[in-house]
Amino acid sequence: MWYIMVVTKMITTATGSIENITGAVWEVLNMDTKEYLQILRNEIHSTVFATLDEKGRPHTRVIDIMLVDDDSLYFITAKGKAFYDELTGQKFAAISGMTGGEGSDIAHASIEKKAISVRGYVKDIGPEKLDEVFEKNPYMAEIYPDENSRTALTVFRMSDGEGEFFDLSTKPITRESFILGNGLDGKKNLQEHGYFITDKCRGCRMCYSKCPQKCIDMSSIPFVIKQENCLHCGNCMSVCPFGAVEKG
Ligand code: SF4
Ligand code: SF4
Repeated sequence: MWYIMVVTKMITTATGSIENITGAVWEVLNMDTKEYLQILRNEIHSTVFATLDEKGRPHTRVIDIMLVDDDSLYFITAKGKAFYDELTGQKFAAISGMTGGEGSDIAHASIEKKAISVRGYVKDIGPEKLDEVFEKNPYMAEIYPDENSRTALTVFRMSDGEGEFFDLSTKPITRESFILGNGLDGKKNLQEHGYFITDKCRGCRMCYSKCPQKCIDMSSIPFVIKQENCLHCGNCMSVCPFGAVEKG
């Protein structure tokens, strides 16, 4: 089911003042965090994790999402890996995954893809969920066949953060943000990013003409960007002759 809500967003303008932008329309899917996490675990499963090493250099690895619950995801690693050091050092990770990767047949690839990105705080919770991980992901027994070989493993939980769902198969595209636990700021506030049209708008339609998704509501001035369909390409901001588009 779909529903529409109107949000109020505070942004800092180019002059440093705070403007209250009302009327940004977010048409959102009626899916909760648990359902997005289930897509991540059940449909995507193998994801790319980004971490930073002790020198601040980024590393990426393919890591499986082993378990999810209402607002957390779980993955494992061995304590001897550099990945473990980076996770315990930074206590933070960013994850991305996508359904329907078709790199082996690129000539016939479609955009029937759903992508999810999540970033948040991670914590080593020890082996308490290890049996459940192996029970629900039986292929792991081929890598770690017996109890002795599993002693190096530990389970990590990501329980506070935020995520974004991105569906390229809809026209226009669909984007939605969701929150894990207490979010990134600990107060359950979702950090919304994107482009917003301010009261400086004169209704000239230049932005609409350059928008690849035609996701700008022109029914009243100031025009309104439909955030749930926006690609974040920035065309509207670069073309606006009145400086009416702000990046939040
Ligand atoms: S280009 Fe700028 S002024 Fe013109 S309609 Fe778009 S936001 Fe408004
Ligand atoms: S950022 Fe791109 S997709 Fe989004 S409203 Fe502007 S032009 Fe359209």
